[in-house]
Amino acid sequence: MILVLVPDAEQAAIDRLRQNIEAKGLLVQHIHGENTTMLGIAGDTSEVDQESFLRIDIVDSVMRVSDPYKLANRKLHPQDTVIHVKGHTIGGGNLTLVAGPCSVESEEQILSIARDVAASGATFLRGGAFKPRSSPYAFQGMGLDGLELLKIASRKTGLPIVTELLSHEHLDDFARDVDVIQIGARNMQNFSLLREVGKLKKPVLLKRGLANTIEELLMSAEYVLSGGTADVILCERGIRTFETATRNTLDLSAVPVLKKKSHLPVIVDPSHGTGYWHLVEPLSLASVAVGADALIIEVHNAPQYALCDGPQSITPEVFHTLAQKLRRVHEAISN
Ligand code: PEP
Ligand code: MN
Repeated sequence: MILVLVPDAEQAAIDRLRQNIEAKGLLVQHIHGENTTMLGIAGDTSEVDQESFLRIDIVDSVMRVSDPYKLANRKLHPQDTVIHVKGHTIGGGNLTLVAGPCSVESEEQILSIARDVAASGATFLRGGAFKPRSSPYAFQGMGLDGLELLKIASRKTGLPIVTELLSHEHLDDFARDVDVIQIGARNMQNFSLLREVGKLKKPVLLKRGLANTIEELLMSAEYVLSGGTADVILCERGIRTFETATRNTLDLSAVPVLKKKSHLPVIVDPSHGTGYWHLVEPLSLASVAVGADALIIEVHNAPQYALCDGPQSITPEVFHTLAQKLRRVHEAISN
């Protein structure tokens, strides 16, 4: 951290500030420029409140030079995190496909889709039981009954379950029954939920918030990791921009940026990222080309009747062809 001092700072005030910082166990280096005087602070500044320095008369501005996240940071953990769930893997050079409907609607629906996507190479089943809908009048998901149906589909296909936890009240149910706990875009900064979910020590799929930066996503991952789990999957699912041609703007540059900054595996959701089923194929192929470890794709056996997100859901047939193409792109970029 660097403190830039005002030009007329008196030496006595500089010395006092320096002593205060050193008293926190940090090292201070005085830097004299031609027109500017700065104090460089070294050591663990993660608990130092940057804003508090701005209240000191002789401090003009404060600059952070190191990342505020530690556990998620590749600099402190150079090797890739590889997540293992019931014999399936996310990260470590594999291409993992997570597929299933936006929402669980019936036993017949989830079982039929689970069987189809498994036959096409998906190794995880997604499906919402608790849905974060913009309207309180829209279908809210089947709740715990939906979770029971996911368990049946998982038992019959061997696919581990990925499903969204909406609130604290279902932490115990998810700890018992869910293989990968999804934290949705709307809850990315629900810090108390992030802390609690981290304590379960289960893999967490953390979605980027609707209008959040990459650093904010990594700070949220830090909350989950600091709770106790080592397994967090970072999900790019599109962000809000001025563009209206797509539901969200899928930020594919986030993939290589996240891979550089963090050791955690990265998954892309081209379904919520675009909002249209015909855009799912090109953006999935592009996601693999830019280095995504996994994709999470909405697949529905009758998208025109889906209770949620039908327009962005692909059919099992389209998923089958897409999975083959994805494997070819993955092979082409693997060495
Ligand atoms: C979902 O995966 O069904 C979902 C609601 O996603 P997001 O949180 O990215 O909107
Ligand atoms: Mn959805």
